[in-house]
Amino acid sequence: MNKQSIVILGSTGSIGVSTLDVMARHPERFDVYALVAGSNIDLLFQQVITHRPKKILIANAQARNKWLQGAYAERVKNQAGLQPELLGQGDLAALCQSAEVDSVMAAIVGAAGLEPTLAALEAGKTVFLANKESLVLAGRFMLDACKKSGARILPVDSEHNAIYQCLPSNYSSTDPHTHGIERIILTASGGPFRTSPLEDLLSVTPEQAVAHPNWSMGKKISVDSASMANKGLELIEALWLFGLPAAQLSVLIHPQSIVHSMVEYKDGSVLAQLGCPDMRTPIAHVLGLPDRIESGSPRLNLAQIVQLNFEEPDLARFPMLKLAYEALNAPSTLAPIYNAANEVAVELFLNRQIGFMNIYSLVNLCMNKFSSRTIQGLDGLFDFDTEVRQFALQNAAHV
Ligand code: NAD
Ligand code: MG
Repeated sequence: MNKQSIVILGSTGSIGVSTLDVMARHPERFDVYALVAGSNIDLLFQQVITHRPKKILIANAQARNKWLQGAYAERVKNQAGLQPELLGQGDLAALCQSAEVDSVMAAIVGAAGLEPTLAALEAGKTVFLANKESLVLAGRFMLDACKKSGARILPVDSEHNAIYQCLPSNYSSTDPHTHGIERIILTASGGPFRTSPLEDLLSVTPEQAVAHPNWSMGKKISVDSASMANKGLELIEALWLFGLPAAQLSVLIHPQSIVHSMVEYKDGSVLAQLGCPDMRTPIAHVLGLPDRIESGSPRLNLAQIVQLNFEEPDLARFPMLKLAYEALNAPSTLAPIYNAANEVAVELFLNRQIGFMNIYSLVNLCMNKFSSRTIQGLDGLFDFDTEVRQFALQNAAHV
């Protein structure tokens, strides 16, 4: 079997670490071609020794300097006999397009993941997509790139991976109405504040918001899960990935995070994918396709879990979900605003500069301000993204 040569974008993050864990279980199948990290060079150092990439890239300038000055390269050479090439930020797109690369795990957090992901798609690579923000920001451009190059996007996000598994194998997102699908049901845990008194949400701290009951994840997505902006981003992600209109996309709260999503068909059948809440399962699914491979995640014991509960989401408690439903109606304009304003707001919240409920107020303000814009081309989109971010920063004190 030819080994699959993979670039991991965001290797030191939660998804990156899980991806390397799955790959290391199958050395006969996978080669780590390159590791791309932000600033955690101590973990990157360990990953280089263990996974032996040909190339590495450190995005954060300070961390890159520390790597160069701290004799990390020398230690890698002494300890493992390796000399991986250290690339610069300007090499990122070309790295993802290299002829030596088969596929790219897109697991950088936020809009920063768009450029390399789009580059990989333009070059016809298979992209394992965890970085939902890139699709929310630039869905149309990413799909156009796939159409032109024949690239594939395989969903890593657990809900979209579940849906992908429940759809017919010949499913086509450009012709979604031929498959008898009634609707897609994205499940959501409801996060840490599902049952908290509403008035308590005003004084929530970053520590409380990142403490997710079921999943262990990076900080940004943990805050997004608490506000349910994560489910909002996922609704928009589903719109682009599966090509179904907003009316066929729905959300159901499921506190146990065992049913990862469902597809309801016109004959009344509902197909669901179940598993323990461990991202190694969807990661192993996309890496292994068309085979099923060991992921290392624990087996599901339904008798021990006893109960699976479901309830409708409360849009007053989770107004970010309400805004996402609005964004579904004009995804090319409203979704980029939703994403950019949310990224700014979450950062401000994590830095204790705004309150938890101000995340919604700020995103709402930005969506009202910019809703009538039309965006021309990819450059226009990047300018628009920057403009929304600046407006959000300037107005954060007033929400
Ligand atoms: P994380 O914060 O743990 O990791 C992010 C990674 O991206 C780190 O390696 C960081 O160094 C790197 N990074 C950040 N900015 C960068 C930049 N400008 N250039 C290069 N690298 C940069 O985040 P995560 O939880 O692993 O999430 C990653 C993505 O996957 C997010 O888009 C998230 O929404 C999505 N996702 C995560 C989970 C999960 O369980 N963690 C589940 C579904 C989807
Ligand atoms: Mg998800």
